[in-house]
Amino acid sequence: MSCREDLIVPKYLFILICISVVFLSQNAFAIPRQLSVPGGIAVVPLESVSKPRPKATMGDKPVMVIADQKHWVAIVGLALSTKTGFKQLSVDYPQGNNIKLSFEVKDKKYAEQHITLKNKRMVNPYKNDLTRIREEQKLSRNAFATWRDLDAVETRFITPVNGILSGTFGKRRFFNEEPRKPHSGIDIAAAQGTPVVAPASGVVIETGNYFFNGNTVFVDHGQGLVSMFCHLETIDVNKGMTVNTGDTIATVGKTGRVTGPHLHWSVSLNDSRVDPLLFLDEKTITALKSPD
Ligand code: ZN
Repeated sequence: MSCREDLIVPKYLFILICISVVFLSQNAFAIPRQLSVPGGIAVVPLESVSKPRPKATMGDKPVMVIADQKHWVAIVGLALSTKTGFKQLSVDYPQGNNIKLSFEVKDKKYAEQHITLKNKRMVNPYKNDLTRIREEQKLSRNAFATWRDLDAVETRFITPVNGILSGTFGKRRFFNEEPRKPHSGIDIAAAQGTPVVAPASGVVIETGNYFFNGNTVFVDHGQGLVSMFCHLETIDVNKGMTVNTGDTIATVGKTGRVTGPHLHWSVSLNDSRVDPLLFLDEKTITALKSPD
């Protein structure tokens, strides 16, 4: 065998590997990006799509199952409060058998954010405000717990507004130096009145004016995937309306607990708030980043 022939084989192998990588990255594009950490997403492969869609659950919560090329995959939302280590996913197949699959959740450290608010009532609400806040929390909990059984769910989003990413997900927050809940979404700063569009198709399941969140819209994208948009100036949709990707649903405002006009966008999966950036492609994220 000559030296030349020796080189030909690795060359073909190299091309084959390149094709596989391209294929796999295209494949990964259809589903959210996996990041198995608190506030992230675990993707657990199940069986072939030639069989009917299985049902997956984590604890007592139903978990999204969608087709990824030739396989069903479970897309598991991991709350920020998730402890690291191995977790168990329960899968029920239509044939009647049940299996338990385990996956690992790794650690992630989130940064701190210190915010100064002139309106002290937004840090320590009055007694009367608390009744209203509790009512609103109930509405939010119900909205996030929505389950609409769809076969195909859009899990690659467009950005709901073009602007500057002014607040990342998961930051441990201090308002006027008092510790509060971590940031459960992302903030995109944009001029007041800028249209906010649906990042994926869905159904408007709740709208309202909330104490902390200001004018708010919830959109259910299916199988436990829910978006929440806050601090809106106007709400341009009604409860029960179906929206398509790119439809205007509201405008950017500064209602509720804010320091300036921006959109707060939360994404929930199996009732766990996860990082919305995992649903956007890298190019969209780069376009959102602050120029400084
Ligand atoms: Zn926010």
